[in-house]
Amino acid sequence: MKKPKKTLKSLNIDKSWTLFLDRDGIVNKLIVGGYVCKWKEFKFIPAFLKYIGRLSGKFGHIIIVTNQRCIAKRLVSKKGLALIHKKMVSAIKKRGGRVDRLYYCPHEIEDGCSCRKPKIGMLLKAKKAFKNIKFAKSVVIGDFESDMEFARKAGMTGVLISPKTAGIGGTKADYVYEGLEAFWKAIK
Ligand SMILES: [Mg+2]
Ligand SMILES: [Zn+2]
Repeated sequence: MKKPKKTLKSLNIDKSWTLFLDRDGIVNKLIVGGYVCKWKEFKFIPAFLKYIGRLSGKFGHIIIVTNQRCIAKRLVSKKGLALIHKKMVSAIKKRGGRVDRLYYCPHEIEDGCSCRKPKIGMLLKAKKAFKNIKFAKSVVIGDFESDMEFARKAGMTGVLISPKTAGIGGTKADYVYEGLEAFWKAIK
């Protein structure tokens, strides 16, 4: 018989924990087959804005880790992306939330870099910047299996936000929820 899985609640998440957030599909709406190249194309997911304040109060660190190969494709400049992120962070602050650091991979898949998720280069950078980050006390929230692979590689807890796969299985995620609201209810 399979051991019943621990509930998220039993992890007792507190300020000693870190939350790694994927961006597209979690913070803002994913543009299928495209990229957010301008601020006006950046559309917050309402549940994210609703819960980021509460999540910021719960976790010690809030860090965004995102693959942005739109830079390698020259669809947006580094300066342009920085502007989008500046506006994003300021909107998050207005809702009582915070982002302690944001890392992005600017490379193309073929570049073979060490930072494109599921590789863990961005995690290692975060760990260098914040010495008290513990991967065993970190949650990764993402909408792709590659985010869950990323979580698993470093021994972090992977939470897949996926309205479609919730309850179906066949995922590397430790937990699957339909949205951030259900995740918040599971940890609070
Ligand atoms: Mg995503
Ligand atoms: Zn990279």
